[in-house]
Amino acid sequence: MCGAVVVDYAQIVQELHRQADKRPGLADTVELHRELLEVQARAQVSPRGPALSGDEASARLEQGHPLLSPESLVVDGQTLAGLCDQIGFIVGERRPELADSLAKIRAWLGERRQQIDVLAVEYLREGRVREGEEAGLDGNLLAFIFNNALRPFLRAQAEALAPLVGDSTWYRGRCPICGGEPDLAALERGNGRRRLLCSRCDSEWAFQRIGCPFCGNDDPRRLAYYPSDDQIYRLSVCEQCHRYLKTIDLRQVAGERLLPAERILTAAMDLAALDAGYGEG
Ligand SMILES: [Zn+2]
Ligand SMILES: [Zn+2]
Repeated sequence: MCGAVVVDYAQIVQELHRQADKRPGLADTVELHRELLEVQARAQVSPRGPALSGDEASARLEQGHPLLSPESLVVDGQTLAGLCDQIGFIVGERRPELADSLAKIRAWLGERRQQIDVLAVEYLREGRVREGEEAGLDGNLLAFIFNNALRPFLRAQAEALAPLVGDSTWYRGRCPICGGEPDLAALERGNGRRRLLCSRCDSEWAFQRIGCPFCGNDDPRRLAYYPSDDQIYRLSVCEQCHRYLKTIDLRQVAGERLLPAERILTAAMDLAALDAGYGEG
């Protein structure tokens, strides 16, 4: 199998509906994400990016560098600002309790439209927009908006760069293409091999079966997992860095599952993990 893969938007939406029909409690979450996916699919992004030769790509990966550095991502500021606006609007419609926090974020971003590419680089480098947090904004919500607004740009790059990533050149906890952290893992049918889904660009890549991708801890005494009643899902937690990783065991399901849809369908596991004290760093 070739290394990184990126699943099509239309397929993700279709799969969301197919799986959500069996889980009525998820209707609201699925609708929110369907709207976000539609905005992302319509975004006009150029797949133009760093032109890397196969040799250059291999050299970067062998040295442990993802193919894209935050600074090398080509982002049109206008398009990105427009996406942030639309995403903020959609979330506000679906989550009225966040209206106040969103209004502050949108006003703040409105004043920074000219420097939004700088904020994007900051988000890509740190996984958060510290400048916004320091201004008193809801940091998680701001990161959610940037994550979703940057996704079309990163996906376009990932699609272009995926052929340059082979499974054997990269066995790290971060995305070989954009350097993002995983937000879902899958155990593959047959060999039980683990692959990770990038929380930013939707690339998937192979990773070792045991161990925490966030801190590298592979001491079984400091790792645990909690399976769902049907054994399809498990919440893996690390007692060293206190992060968690949602996992789907594809050996327990009939047919294929799409990881970018599963990321959304497992939203309840994020809440459970956060409630139990696991989370961001
Ligand atoms: Zn990525
Ligand atoms: Zn860890």
